[in-house]
Amino acid sequence: MKILETLKYKAFPVKGGYTNRILQVDLGTPSISTLKLSRDFREKYIGGRGYALKLIWDGTTAETRYDSPENILVMASGPLGADPRFPGTGKFIVGTISPLTDTFIDSNVGGHFAPLLKLCGFDALAVSGVSKTDVILIVDGDEGVVHMAEAPSFGDDADFGGLSYGERLLKTFNQGKLSEDMAAVTTGIGARHTRFGIINSLFYDKRRKRMRCKQAGRGGTGTVMLAKGLKAIIVRSNLPRVQANNPVDKEGVREAGADLKKVVSKMDPQQLRLSSWGTPVLSEYMDKFHILPVNNYQYGSHPDASKVFADVFLDRYLAKNIPDGCYTGCNLACAKGAENVTLKRGPQAGQQVGIDGPEYETVAAVTSMGIFDPEFVMEYNWYCDEYGLDTISMGVTASFLMECVQRGYISTQDVGYDLSWGHIEAVDQLLHETARGEGLGKICGQGVHRAKKWVAQNYAAKSGVPYEQIMVELEKFGMEVKGLEFSMYVTKESLAQQGGYGFALKGPQHDEAWLIFIDQVHKELPTFEDKAAALKWFPLIRTWFNAVGLCKLPWIDVRHPEAANTDNPAKNQPTLAYYVKYLNATVGCKKTLQNVLDDSERLQVLQKLINLRQGKGTRSSDIIPLRAMGPAYLDEYETRADYYDTWLREQIGEEKFPDAKEDRHELIIDLRKKAYQNLCDVVYKEKGYNSDAVPLPETVKKFDLLDDRALAVLDEFGLSWKEK
Ligand code: SF4
Repeated sequence: MKILETLKYKAFPVKGGYTNRILQVDLGTPSISTLKLSRDFREKYIGGRGYALKLIWDGTTAETRYDSPENILVMASGPLGADPRFPGTGKFIVGTISPLTDTFIDSNVGGHFAPLLKLCGFDALAVSGVSKTDVILIVDGDEGVVHMAEAPSFGDDADFGGLSYGERLLKTFNQGKLSEDMAAVTTGIGARHTRFGIINSLFYDKRRKRMRCKQAGRGGTGTVMLAKGLKAIIVRSNLPRVQANNPVDKEGVREAGADLKKVVSKMDPQQLRLSSWGTPVLSEYMDKFHILPVNNYQYGSHPDASKVFADVFLDRYLAKNIPDGCYTGCNLACAKGAENVTLKRGPQAGQQVGIDGPEYETVAAVTSMGIFDPEFVMEYNWYCDEYGLDTISMGVTASFLMECVQRGYISTQDVGYDLSWGHIEAVDQLLHETARGEGLGKICGQGVHRAKKWVAQNYAAKSGVPYEQIMVELEKFGMEVKGLEFSMYVTKESLAQQGGYGFALKGPQHDEAWLIFIDQVHKELPTFEDKAAALKWFPLIRTWFNAVGLCKLPWIDVRHPEAANTDNPAKNQPTLAYYVKYLNATVGCKKTLQNVLDDSERLQVLQKLINLRQGKGTRSSDIIPLRAMGPAYLDEYETRADYYDTWLREQIGEEKFPDAKEDRHELIIDLRKKAYQNLCDVVYKEKGYNSDAVPLPETVKKFDLLDDRALAVLDEFGLSWKEK
């Protein structure tokens, strides 16, 4: 391995959850350095998403695109990541300027990478510049050294695959063995040919005795990584994990962790049973409540859906009775996996592989293409991970193209094969073409936002129909906002989740506001006011999880028995009390839940400023496709006519209820559009924005962010600050 640059360093120990050091690598120069963080930086930006936001705000401009040398790829946990005594502490954030949205994206991922990086002495890693040749980074805390080296080659098959390459690299670095003291992040060849490349977080699982992976899946973080010429990063530390954060109050941490673990082990088996089934357990709920995407979100359930429910995967694929935490100490342990699956299709057909997943989102990405075959779900899952492709964006873009075929905008001649709903061989071909950047895969790899334009141009040239007229139609069912594909929930019957997707600063990904379960399944947001209030509160607390380095599932997916006795059970505040206690005990502060929400709001305002600077922050950027608001076409209305007619009668009364179904459909669409616009008005006001979704100067000032750059952004929208 040819070493190109080296930094020798003395690791700063973790104290109260922080090392107060960032590792900075410029791949262009090349240079490697450490940055000491001030107390003010730490207190204002917390960690994780906050650190990524601040580094991107400072280091990039309105002109920065995903492949610009100045774009920064940030990987950061937070002060609460890395302690196995509390559940869910392996999470970290990958933040950057996205190839899909051209603005800030962050994607959270589990595994051992961030805890090991912290033990190596770094709260975050920030990579800028572009290398002329493919390189890797090695952060070796045991030796106190960081290397940038030429990426070794292990032959074509391994070099092209994120999983294969990572495993070979880790073994090469450690005398042929995998070890819990090492982890890596990688991506695959698909990240080079698409805008939705992922970053795989690889770690050794001693129970399953194999390398496993989790994914930073959304927004093209892997595409940025390969655009920089960075093929992989390895971290190594043999320091003990328990007490990794060197907390100020050790006993407080122990108590908070033990209390949360007790609730998880008692309540999860009575509730979602994630520890047994993993997240595919959601498929059954989603199908039952008409939320499971089928045929590009046209429908929310399907008679064949039970073929991809969790019990099928459990019986056929998932090794049972193994605690599957993605990091040590998580007893919710939802990270299920399958051993020795023989691939039937694609270039690796015949090979036996271990498969990590499927997650619910991957199952639903496949049902969105009209496929209900568990074997294909497993293969789709593995190939996407190996190629470095986001299962969600891949599935949603393929679904969009399939609907274009259904509606005649693309012909079989254009595609070269029969891309109709449920056609497994065709979808399989499109997947491999997308990874290789060939045929229709070249278009698919651009994501829905850009694919819409290609379809409209292509069809306009063939048919003579004006481009704009075609776009109006495609925008009804092109399931993207701000350039990011929707994650896997049909929102037609949940106004709260429509807002959750539309207002999400990064684009429609549920980790910012997953309200569909409490709104449509639990019916805990019955009024318009309840929904609007939830759209402020839930994104705040969720942003905090992404800043401190924690998984949200032990909070949001396991309801504390005492929550029912509180004024708002959906907030699960008795469990949140453990989180606040864990924070105070680790860092040595005295924060309340309200302080935590305020800290989080600062990060949201900063993210909003970045969006405005990048041209994605106003009201028009929050508009969702018609299909996300209601039945875009008459047949969608007809398949749920009972529900829609009841809803319509509630809105207008029996006397005004139209006789003709076409009139009812039109009226529903009209009312849904108005309801969404009303929601925008109320939520923007609640958040301290003007009616165009721009934060008022006093809102920016309140969070101590009103510097010259913020003023310049606000000035572009006619807002200025006058000291009162
Ligand atoms: S709940 Fe699942 S995703 Fe979250 S930390 Fe535990 S194993 Fe990982």
